[in-house]
Order: sequence, then C-alpha cells, then structure tokens
Amino acid sequence: MSIPYTHRACYVNFAEHLQNAWNPNLYYPGAPNQWRAADWTGFFHMLAAFGFNIFEFWLPPTLMDRPALAGSAVHESFAQQMRQATQIAHAAGLQVKFIVAANTIGPQWYFACPNEPDDLQLIFDLWRHWLRQLPETDIVGIFPGDPGGCNRNGCTHETFVDLALSLCDLIQSETPRAAIEIGTWGTPFSGWGSDLISPPNWDGDFSQLIQQQLPPGAFAHIWNGDPARAQASMEYFLKRLPEFPADLRVAINLGFSPDGDATMGGDGRPWAREIAKLRPITTWDYSLSEGELILHPHWRLPRLAARRREERAAAPYCGGMNYTMSPKLNLLTLYAAGQLFLDPTADPDALAARFCAQVFGEEHAALGALFEAFEVVPGWGHYPRRQWAKPVLRSAYQEIINRLTAADVSGCTLPLFPDAETYRQDLLWFAGLFYELASEQPDRARIRRDYWQKTFAIYDRIPMSVDARAEQAAENFSRLLGGK
Ligand SMILES: [Zn+2]
Repeated sequence: MSIPYTHRACYVNFAEHLQNAWNPNLYYPGAPNQWRAADWTGFFHMLAAFGFNIFEFWLPPTLMDRPALAGSAVHESFAQQMRQATQIAHAAGLQVKFIVAANTIGPQWYFACPNEPDDLQLIFDLWRHWLRQLPETDIVGIFPGDPGGCNRNGCTHETFVDLALSLCDLIQSETPRAAIEIGTWGTPFSGWGSDLISPPNWDGDFSQLIQQQLPPGAFAHIWNGDPARAQASMEYFLKRLPEFPADLRVAINLGFSPDGDATMGGDGRPWAREIAKLRPITTWDYSLSEGELILHPHWRLPRLAARRREERAAAPYCGGMNYTMSPKLNLLTLYAAGQLFLDPTADPDALAARFCAQVFGEEHAALGALFEAFEVVPGWGHYPRRQWAKPVLRSAYQEIINRLTAADVSGCTLPLFPDAETYRQDLLWFAGLFYELASEQPDRARIRRDYWQKTFAIYDRIPMSVDARAEQAAENFSRLLGGK
C-alpha cells in the first residue's frame, strides 16, 4: 500500500459526439438518456465508494455559444442541472471540476482567434457567463484544444499560454473559491500554432480541418508538434508558470502522444519533473480506460495499473483523471481506476476478481478474469494484454453468459449505479453479441442494427455531431472478429 493520490477525478465526457445510452444527455430536450437528481445521487455515491474524490465534466462547445449569453432555455437548463448535480456531489463528498477548451465555440466547433478582437471578446464573455452560472465549482480546467486551438493571425503555442494567464485572472475574480488546472494536452497544447494543419485561407471552421487533404505522413489535422516545438512550448510555459496562481495544478502526461507515449512531440517526463518543482502535477491520460466511441464493457486494467506505476517512478504526480463516455456501463473500470488512485500498487487481476465477487457473488469471482475477453475491439488506446483465437473467445463468452445467467445480484455489496441487475443485463447483452461475432456465420447487418438501436439511437432524435463517428463505430463493432 502506498500513499493515495490526492487528486482522484472521474471525467465523464458527455460531448456532442459521444452521446449514447450509458452517458447523460443534458442539453437535448425531448431526447432520451436524461439524468434526474436520483441518477446523479446514485452515480456520485458509487464514485465515492470506488475511491474518487472529484467529478469532472467538459462544458461542451454547444454550450459555449452565443445563445448562452442570450439566456436560451437549453443553456439555462444545463446550468440548473449542473448546479443541482454539484450540490449532490458535495453532499457525497466529491469536489466538482469542469474543463473548457479555451477557444472552441458552438456546435460547429468554431475555433475563435484570440488575435481577433471580436473573437477574444466572445471567448471572455462566454467564460465569464459560465463561471457565473456555476459558482460552486471547486476546480476549473483550462484546456488547450482537441477540438480547439488556432494558427491564424500569428497564433502559436505561446498564444495559448498567454490566453490561459488572462483566463486565470478572470476565474479568480469571478469564482474565487475555485482552484485552476491547466492542461498541456497535445504535443503539447493541441491545435496551437504549428501543431495544427489548416487549409489555405482557413476561417476557423472545424469541418474544413477534417475535410482537407493532409500531407503524407500526417496523423491528423492536430498532433503535428515535433520535439523541438514541444521544447519551445514547455520552455515558454515554464518561464511564465510563476505568474500563474499559487494553487494552480498542471495536467501533464508521461508523453505527448494521444496515448501518453513518447512517439509524438517527445518524452513528457522531464517536463513533468520541471513543472512539479513549481506547481503540483496531475495526469490526463485520456485513452487509458476507454477510446472514444469504442463502446463496450472495457478491460484495460493491467495497462491502467502499469501506467500508475510508471507515473510513480517518473515524477511526483498528485493524481489524475479517469475518463469515461459510458458511466452507466464501465463500472468495473471505474472501480479499478478509483482503487488504483487510492493504491497505485494494487494488483489489477485481484481488483477484477474482488469487484465481481462483490457484485455477482464469491462463486462468480472468475468473471473478473473472463471479462478480459471483451477487450478485443481495435481502436484508440487498445493495447490488449493477450491475443485470442476465435474458438477460445467463443468459449469465454459462453462461460460469461452461463455465469451471468446464474448469478444472483441481490447480495451485491457495492453501491452500483445503475443497479446491479441492470448492469448484469447489459453485460449479458454484450456477451451475447460478442458470442455471435465469434461464431462462424454472424448476421453482421442485424448486429449493426441492434448495436445502433441499443447504443446510439439518440442520434435518430438529435443532430449528428460535426464529428460524425457514431455511424462508423456501429459499423466497426459489427465487423468485429471478421478476420480470424
Ligand atoms: Zn488565432
């Protein structure tokens, strides 16, 4: 047992492009998946029991838009819901943190330019609005981008640092109770200056960025900062860091790639150590627990545990966050992540077995190991511990189905949200789909329809996000295990 982290955040990303049956819908009235006070109460009690002490959310760009300033009903309703959720979180012993991409505006994800006076005014008006709407927030995070950033009108990585300093002044004057966290996300500072590839005469429009022809070898329109740029960014940030508030936290990963590796932008660890001399550091290791739109019951526990050990060895981290876009589904991951924040030396296999024994009964502790067979969906952050032959997977899925069918969850000793029976049914539904995908002749068209209907049907009722990956996610899931 080692000393627990003090910053143990669960980050629920309920942005426009990540809506699904297991995520709260807070700004699409009339559409499903809305959470009431009882839902937040259940969720927060579970988080606290698992070991978290911070609930974190992103104020998505749809809400960072002019209608908020005009008092639109949707924006007012979101603010009212989050004020209530904040009260419930505080009663459950959790702090509340929101993060905002510094300059990303509206459902079309417009990248406002701090070097254009009207855009700069809009950025500050919107930040001020939301700080006033959510005055009981404990921690405010300033996020560089993804989406967000700018390379117009001379904007560089330095522009972000300068903007963040000005935003700190605003936060301190509007919400004096809130601590501030600044994110280094990207290679670093995603989307600022030469990190961003944009088309000629780009006007800040997101869809232009993702439709443009990228140069050969480019990973995406962002993540283009090389180690020399990372060094320049970090040196400038370190130079200005003493001007930031004394209680500022800095989120910096072990590496600058989307997976926290040293493959893009270089090694983050020396910079983490330098920053830690001046301010406390946290991690923001996004794809560690789930990838965006890779939506099923995950089992990335060994990687989670290994990362916590690597962080301990690398720099004096005071904590980090665990991301989810499926807070009502990935309960095992949330449990393991919370426990690993409390004890970074914990054994991930033992955590999985203990969780399943508590939920499904001692006789089904083996489910903890069996669920590893779900971690077979390629995509962001997928680094499975083992490879599987299809017949072995089929046997594992059959045993999961047998055990989940037999399990009596009435004796569950953890305060789960949703309740243990709903969780059991969802796992059983996924096990059935995985079993069929591992069979010789799966009906992939029907599986795609079923997956869409259960997971993404909300998009039949709301506008598709400008980042329209949900359709592809359903398609990818239906094609799973097709090649083995
Ligand atoms: Zn600009």
